[in-house]
Order: sequence, then structure tokens, then C-alpha cells
Amino acid sequence: FELRNEDLKDLQELGQGNGGSVKKVEHTPTGTMMAKKIVLIDAKPSVRKQILRELHIMHDCNSKYIVSFFGAFLADPNICICMEFMDKGSLHSIYKKIGPIDIDVVGQVALSVLEGLTYLYDVHRIIHRDIKPSNILCNSAGQIKICDFGVSGELINSIADTFVGTSTYMSPERIQGAQYTVKSDVWSLGISLIELALGRFPFSESESDDNDSDLSDLEGTLSPNRPLSMGLPPPRSSRTPKTPTDKNTPTDKKKDRRKSKGVSLQGGSMTMSILELLQHIVNEPAPRLTPEGRFPKEAEDFVDSCLWKDPEIRKTPKDLLV
Ligand code: ATP
Ligand code: MG
Repeated sequence: FELRNEDLKDLQELGQGNGGSVKKVEHTPTGTMMAKKIVLIDAKPSVRKQILRELHIMHDCNSKYIVSFFGAFLADPNICICMEFMDKGSLHSIYKKIGPIDIDVVGQVALSVLEGLTYLYDVHRIIHRDIKPSNILCNSAGQIKICDFGVSGELINSIADTFVGTSTYMSPERIQGAQYTVKSDVWSLGISLIELALGRFPFSESESDDNDSDLSDLEGTLSPNRPLSMGLPPPRSSRTPKTPTDKNTPTDKKKDRRKSKGVSLQGGSMTMSILELLQHIVNEPAPRLTPEGRFPKEAEDFVDSCLWKDPEIRKTPKDLLV
């Protein structure tokens, strides 16, 4: 059926992101519940139409690991994207509510995301580009699905200036301006899995000495308005990635993994700490599932294999499914 704004009854605000807001709506002619994403687009009419054409590909994305698509339309000055309503919301909102997610469940999340990414890439040659807990949704049937993938190049361009604050799941190669590949999504998955298992963003201030800092970290991070308390080392322009001294090569990964310093995004100067964070991702060892021994070895190894800093070594979603 053709979707029209006047057939959609607003029921509830589901959340707000950088690019717009999402509402639960009812499609009154059919009684179907949907999530309607409203994206404010600063673009010419011709570009808007192009975006709509590009979004059309989503009609062909049919997988139980992908949030399904009902349609999109223009509602000046916005573009509305209507998708399957996922009644348990995002994993971001779930862990904010209940704390760290059980590692077995995190394993199921990994499986579903990899299935979704493999489907998108193998069948449609689509790279997701925005894997993070708020784009992994759950429903009460127990399904886990991904949403908000980058089907439309024009849409990506049109909302590019709202990008600050969402860039933190970016892979080191992406931060350095390399081509986005499906392996960049694998990096973002690794970061997301740690976040879910620990109940906090992995680059937030962590690490006192080594392994035993975890509980206090967690409590600390949960308290509101915690000041920015951890500085980062100055930029190391002399050190480029992939040199023998790079800290995250297979051979010396182990001995250096404890040295990474955390950076907090809470409080303080947000803009500055995001720049620092990007620098940190590029220059420091990748985060890990820590403290050692808290999680099953398979989980630690799996996350490590998502977070090889060198994309050549990092596996594809398909490899990781095996
Ligand atoms: P960002 O804008 O940085 O990507 P985001 O993913 O949180 O962040 P939106 O994509 O606008 O921003 O989504 C806002 C919130 O709406 C999500 O966090 C999620 O909780 C909720 N949401 C999005 N899509 C759905 C859906 N299909 N079903 C149910 N809830 C949804
Ligand atoms: Mg989203």
C-alpha cells in the first residue's frame, strides 16, 4: 500500500537521535503499528526525490535480522521513514535501564548483527555504516534486528553535518579517512558488544591499574554529571599506524593491552573530548572485554577479533559467523 502521512496516527514518542525523532504510529487503514522516523533534511527538492528513490531499495531488504520497511514519503521539510515497530526498543535503552547485558545474550546480539550484516552485504552490497546499540532493536518475540543502515548516499550526505557525537563507533581506518568497508562495521560491532557486556561505553574512563577497576568504574560512570577526569596523552604524530611499534599487531597485542587510557565523554568540554577520543581510537590499543576472566574466553577472543586495528587482519561478518 501507498503510505500517506494522514493515515498515520501518532501514539507515542519513541526517542530522539541526532538526525530526527522516532514515533510509534498506527497506520489506521490497516491497524498496523509502525515506527515513523522523521528526518529533517536540508536539501533541494531534486535531492529529496533522489533520497526517496534510494530508500526504495529497502523494500527489497527482507531478513529476520533487519527491521522491515513499510515506505518513505516527503512531509516538507522532513522525510518520513516508516519501519517495523520493535516493542522492546534499542539495546542502548535496554542496558541504560537494566545495566550490563548477560554475556549469553550479548552473544545472541553478535549473531543477529552478523547475520544482518552478511545479508545486507552478500545480497545487496550494502554496508551498514552505523552499527551501535541504539541501532540494534529487540521485540518481545525475542528477535534482535538492525536498523538505520546506509542505503541512501544522498541521505547520508544531507545529514552529514549532524555527525558530532555519533562518530565514536568509527573504526580507526575510517577516522583516518580510508574507504568504508564492511570490516568497519565489524569494528563498530566489537565496540557495541563491549558496551553491552560492561554496561558502559568502553572508551569512557576506565583503567586504573589493570583489571580490578571494574565495579568502581561502573558506579562512577553511572553517576550523573561526572566531570571529565581523565586526560589523554598528547597526539603522537610521529607514530603512524601499521608501523612495527603499533600497539595492536598480533604479536605484541597482549603485553600492551593494559596501557590504554580511557577518556570520558561526560561533562567537560564535549567537542574537545570527541576529538581526543578519535585520536585515542587511532593511536591506542583497542579496548577489550575486561577484566580478564570475568567473561568466557570465547567472548574475549571474539571481541578481540572484531577489534583488530588493522582492517587487513580484521575478519568480515561472514568469516565471523563461522
Ligand atoms: P543517532 O541519531 O545518533 O543515530 P539513535 O539511533 O538513538 O541515535 P534514532 O535512530 O533517531 O536515533 O532513534 C531514536 C530512538 O528511537 C532509538 O534509540 C530507539 O530507541 C527508538 N527506535 C528507533 N527505531 C525504532 C523502531 N523501529 N522500533 C522501536 N523503537 C525505535
Ligand atoms: Mg538509530
